[in-house]
Amino acid sequence: GNHVSQPNVRELDATKINYTFTKEPRDVPPPGVHTIDDATVCTDHMITVKWSAKSGWATPELRPYGPLSLMPTASVLHYATECFEGLKAYRGFDGKLRLFRPDCNAKRFLMSSMRISLPSFAPAEVEKLLLALMAVDGPKWLSRERPGSFIYLRPTLIGTQSQLGVQAPSEALLYIIASYMPVMDSPADGLKLHTSPNDMVRAWVGGFGYAKVGANYGPSLLATQEARARGFGQILWLYGKEGYCTEAGASNFFVVWKTKEGKTQLITAPLDDRLILDGVTRRSILQLAREKLSDEVEIVERKYTIQEVMEANSEGRLLESFAAGTAFFITPVSLVHHREQDVQIPMGKTGDGGLYTLKLKGWLRDIMYGNVDHPWGVVV
Ligand code: PMP
Repeated sequence: GNHVSQPNVRELDATKINYTFTKEPRDVPPPGVHTIDDATVCTDHMITVKWSAKSGWATPELRPYGPLSLMPTASVLHYATECFEGLKAYRGFDGKLRLFRPDCNAKRFLMSSMRISLPSFAPAEVEKLLLALMAVDGPKWLSRERPGSFIYLRPTLIGTQSQLGVQAPSEALLYIIASYMPVMDSPADGLKLHTSPNDMVRAWVGGFGYAKVGANYGPSLLATQEARARGFGQILWLYGKEGYCTEAGASNFFVVWKTKEGKTQLITAPLDDRLILDGVTRRSILQLAREKLSDEVEIVERKYTIQEVMEANSEGRLLESFAAGTAFFITPVSLVHHREQDVQIPMGKTGDGGLYTLKLKGWLRDIMYGNVDHPWGVVV
């Protein structure tokens, strides 16, 4: 064929990082539960890596956190050539700092990048960059005096080419920042969901709902804002005239119910239509449930409708529901509002989640915070 080797187009390489440490260290918020205000606080450093079609990936820079410089014509600002990831670093009860399954996030980052015509890279290099940032900022920002705390990591990739032509960008920037984020998994009376409006869908067959591209999020805010004004936390996104349950805001959605035959099922939407994000939390829940609960619970990934949920409710078969994702962790859902009807969902004996919700949460927490040794917990 016509294969031309391009020795000057460099691969992303995280073994060579240029370090420039900050001269103006930032203040760490006081210990305790972080508020939403702390979510504006980023750590001392960030990682940036430039890419161009001509030269490939430049040497990664670890440098002081600060503004980016972009031309007003930059591709991302016009055509949403952007994708991102979200994962947390956890300070374990054993004093160690861990990332949770960063390999999954790095692979999903590549998948999203390919979908939005941004450059490719070896996911393992992104994983190394995440570890490098936490090796520098972790000791101060997730100090050993604060076991059980976490920080949110946000790898981002944007098209930076400064030209208004509608085309795949020939220049891009990968960056990684770390930010505080409040604990969101224990609202006093559970998460209340409002189903999506009749005339709105988050994603569609043939679309890009499965990719973590910014273009999926901006347009969802309108419905979320209206639901918030009416006292609901998130939108339960339905799909099609059948009203299939897909995702809840930026998290996957699970239900525990009894079938008409009396079997207990843990059910969530499938990945095959590419409507929903392949959540790392979702995947981990399914794996743990199959491993530890399959004697008592059937684990099911299939299409199911809001009507089925409402029917289960009216027949007293609805047992539990929760939202699952990095930000929300596992948040029990207490209510789903659909077309002027409220579906109340039991919140368990202790009022903070059903039996299986709490079991799964506990198992995951033990891995994240190092109470058990597990390959999913990657030590920094
Ligand atoms: N769905 C959507 C749309 C999301 O944005 C997220 C958050 N990344 C999730 C689900 C949950 O994914 P994860 O468990 O990987 O955070």
